[in-house]
Amino acid sequence: MPAKEISRPCMDCKDAEIVFTVRKRQLCSDCYKRFISYKVHRRLEPYRPTKQQETRPKILVPLSLGVSSAVLLRIVDDQIQHQLAKVFSKVFFDLHILVINPSSNININSSESFDQHYDALLKEFPRHDHTRLSVHDIFDYIPDMKEIMHEYAGSQFSDDSSLSNEDRLAAFRGSVSTASSKADLDYVLLTRLVAAVAQKNKCQTVFWGDSDSRLAAKALAGVSKGRGASMTWQVSDGMSPWGVRFEFPLRDLYKTELVQYASACPELSDIVIPEPPLSDNVLTKNLSIDELMIRYVQTQGAKYPGIMSNVARTANKLEHPGFDDAAGCALCGGLLGNTKRNTGVTVTSQSADSEGSQFCYGCMRSRPDPMLN
Ligand SMILES: [Zn+2]
Ligand SMILES: [Zn+2]
Repeated sequence: MPAKEISRPCMDCKDAEIVFTVRKRQLCSDCYKRFISYKVHRRLEPYRPTKQQETRPKILVPLSLGVSSAVLLRIVDDQIQHQLAKVFSKVFFDLHILVINPSSNININSSESFDQHYDALLKEFPRHDHTRLSVHDIFDYIPDMKEIMHEYAGSQFSDDSSLSNEDRLAAFRGSVSTASSKADLDYVLLTRLVAAVAQKNKCQTVFWGDSDSRLAAKALAGVSKGRGASMTWQVSDGMSPWGVRFEFPLRDLYKTELVQYASACPELSDIVIPEPPLSDNVLTKNLSIDELMIRYVQTQGAKYPGIMSNVARTANKLEHPGFDDAAGCALCGGLLGNTKRNTGVTVTSQSADSEGSQFCYGCMRSRPDPMLN
């Protein structure tokens, strides 16, 4: 058989054409996927089972059906299949897939063909337990949500529990005025829902699909929103206030690298919902802080990737607070702003019907209170 003619051989295997360039390495498709997967496997090493270990930990993987979380699931699922296929290899953990329906989350616009994307996901990853929810299902998972909403929004808002969960959430969101505060609230509710689903399904850990770029944007936005104190579990690996560990196995990878990875996996094309491209014609004042930071990191990160990874890496070094003896914010679980241990910011509420001490500084900032917004 004649030897394969390769005009530009891959730097690793030397046996296939170059398809991708990653961190100055020119690689074929398979070697590129191996390079990216390795960065995730390294993060998962602590899950290697010990001889004494009798049960496997259960991990919750929340998916929005965006590129990053789909790539994370692909890599982790491949690793499990590989471990199952080997005689002497033990499987590190079991997965529980949680899909959050984007039609209920205003950050994502595409909903028409969500069912098709979801069906494609189940077809490709049939071996794991799975749950599909909308953000408004939070009322079923967190029974004291009614009281929390009432305390948070004050007398301007009254919850009508005879409405559907969807309408109750829409009314609550409607009480919050600015785009930034709405986006902030959406993220807090999403995090609470994911943690509650993990608890209910006895998952010890959540694997979030945030890339290095996303973590940098979260760290920068969190500080601007007065949420510096909760950065520990929103961008660094460790325990969350709800007794579930939060881990970010994609933290060593840029978003562009994940997009490239997905392009090398044809089976993901039916699963991933394409993101609308960032438009240049959007008025900055209409964007939330989170959207602004994502834009900033995407444009600047393309020019200076090292700076963005530094932001995420530095944030990952933040020391985790102990949650046992500290009172947590009723809404986001963060340490309270008017206790000594936190950011040094004291929050005193001006309105007569509010209970300022129940909520942290970040949540007070997003609250429908004219004195604070
Ligand atoms: Zn190669
Ligand atoms: Zn809070």
